[in-house]
Amino acid sequence: MSECLFCKIVARTIPAALVYEDDLVVAFDDINPQAPTHTLVIPRKHVTSIAELQDSDIELLGRLMLTGNKIAKLKGITDAGYRFVVNTGAHGGQSVFHLHLHVLGGRHLAWPPG
Ligand code: AMP
Ligand code: ZN
Repeated sequence: MSECLFCKIVARTIPAALVYEDDLVVAFDDINPQAPTHTLVIPRKHVTSIAELQDSDIELLGRLMLTGNKIAKLKGITDAGYRFVVNTGAHGGQSVFHLHLHVLGGRHLAWPPG
């Protein structure tokens, strides 16, 4: 996916503030943070949205969530609490069409979302 912004971050052809990476996922700070901690966890492989995941992606899905927990620990927000968000499709407010898990924290987050 040569035109995909997040594939370019995985390939290091555009810069990002990397927080963590392993064989399946890459995590970097959001360029327009909505909270003191706002990190994105993405699969290395191009997946358009969570709706595209298959049963065979169960390890990848688990890694995304567990990496979110790892990011929370790295950022020191585990005890205070945090939120995972996966915007999906038009109604879900997705703007970048490469699956990403938002890890948000460092302040009290309102509910319900807008
Ligand atoms: P979503 O609206 O759920 O698709 O989220 C896309 C997120 O990607 C937004 O929070 C953007 O601020 C973030 N974003 C867009 N471009 C970049 C970039 N180059 N580096 C880091 N985050 C980005
Ligand atoms: Zn991509």
